[in-house]
Amino acid sequence: MNIIIPEFALIVLHRLMESGFESYIVGGCVRDSVLGQSPKDYDITTSARPEEVVGIFESFTVIETGLKHGTVTVMSAGSPVEVTTFRTDGDYLDNRRPSSVRFCGTLREDLSRRDFTCNAIAYSPQSGIIDYFGGLSDIENKIIRAVGNPRRRFEEDSLRILRAMRFSSRLGFEIDRQTSDDMHLCRSLLSNISGERIFAELSGILMGENAREIILQYHDILSEFIPSFSDMAGFRQNNPYHIYDVLTHTAVAVERAEPRLCVRLAALLHDVGKPACYFEDADGVGHFYGHAEESVQIAREVFRRLPTDNFTKERVIKLIKYHDAPISPDHKQIKRMLLRHGEEFVSDLIELEKADALAQSPEYHERIDRLRECGAMLREIVEQNECFSLRRLAIGGRDVISLGVPSGKRVGEILTALLSMVVEEKVSNTPDKLREAAIGLIEAEEQSDG
Ligand code: ATP
Ligand code: MG
Repeated sequence: MNIIIPEFALIVLHRLMESGFESYIVGGCVRDSVLGQSPKDYDITTSARPEEVVGIFESFTVIETGLKHGTVTVMSAGSPVEVTTFRTDGDYLDNRRPSSVRFCGTLREDLSRRDFTCNAIAYSPQSGIIDYFGGLSDIENKIIRAVGNPRRRFEEDSLRILRAMRFSSRLGFEIDRQTSDDMHLCRSLLSNISGERIFAELSGILMGENAREIILQYHDILSEFIPSFSDMAGFRQNNPYHIYDVLTHTAVAVERAEPRLCVRLAALLHDVGKPACYFEDADGVGHFYGHAEESVQIAREVFRRLPTDNFTKERVIKLIKYHDAPISPDHKQIKRMLLRHGEEFVSDLIELEKADALAQSPEYHERIDRLRECGAMLREIVEQNECFSLRRLAIGGRDVISLGVPSGKRVGEILTALLSMVVEEKVSNTPDKLREAAIGLIEAEEQSDG
């Protein structure tokens, strides 16, 4: 098999070899190359010690990323290449961090500490593929399999449980039976992993093509950090709008949402409040009054456990809050929403509601058509440069001041009033018409003051 390595990574590989050290590209970049996908970064594993690597690349920019763990980042033609010394991990403390790392003599030992067979293949143009653990055939058969005894590997580092789910979701690979069984078995060890890391892996899982399967198959693992998931599995909705239990509905909604992180996170959490809100009427039909607000509360707890940036958190919470808000393909209504919430939020909300509808009974699919129309209408409003924000208003503060309004708070109030008139299609967004309307507002005010 021939793997194409970009020039910037080859430079680093060759230099290490010329200096007398064994060196290979390794890990994700080999896996992705075998799959015919373009790797997002290149990692090299080498027999050179970190100090030796630093010496060899004296004339390069070198970042001592994790010298203790043997990792040095070499900037080659503007791109980073991570160079890591062959190593094995000492005993693991707390199911996450090795107590020590030991630099070792052989590639084989280095590959044996890696997580999955598909990530444990080395390659160099001189040696070709080196595959001690059957990674190539696992890639061919689309299998994620732990290197060595899965249970021991998850006990060493439980983050690997989530990494397996992420790779499976992204690559569409099945997780090998023993590996999968041991993931379930070891799931409580995830309590040793920081919330930030869990959030990063969860995001990767949700963004993958295979997210639905992973959510369904590993909901017990998700419930380690989102406890409500344990109530959602098998929770029947008894409602004509729904054909799935709450968990399946959630998993399908995630899959059907475009891969935008906020939308997929909101899809994951939009109905977590349902089990707590279940109410059955006299006809035996299930309802979930107030579940959006309950889901918001639970989502807040989830974000306390799994901290992320404030923008993402607030966006997701707001999407959950509004996920049942009626939106119709009505020009003015969409513009009002744009005025109130901004373009990006409205676009995310339409996407979320569409995904939600796509995960309901197919009998109610006219809602999907309406939401599609809303999406098209939103794009048209934006493309036609229609006005729904002060930035797009054809006059500004200076124009209002030139009409005799002293600069200050009142100027902003007049502009906001004009904007709302434009959105309501009472005034067209041209300087003349807006000035005229502004004069009207000023005069009306003077009269009421006088
Ligand atoms: P991605 O495309 O997501 O970056 P990757 O396979 O390159 O995937 P990285 O996290 O960049 O993943 O790690 C690079 C390599 O280091 C992996 O391919 C694997 O061989 C090894 N590795 C990373 N994290 C672990 C871990 N927790 N346990 C064992 N090996 C790991
Ligand atoms: Mg990588």
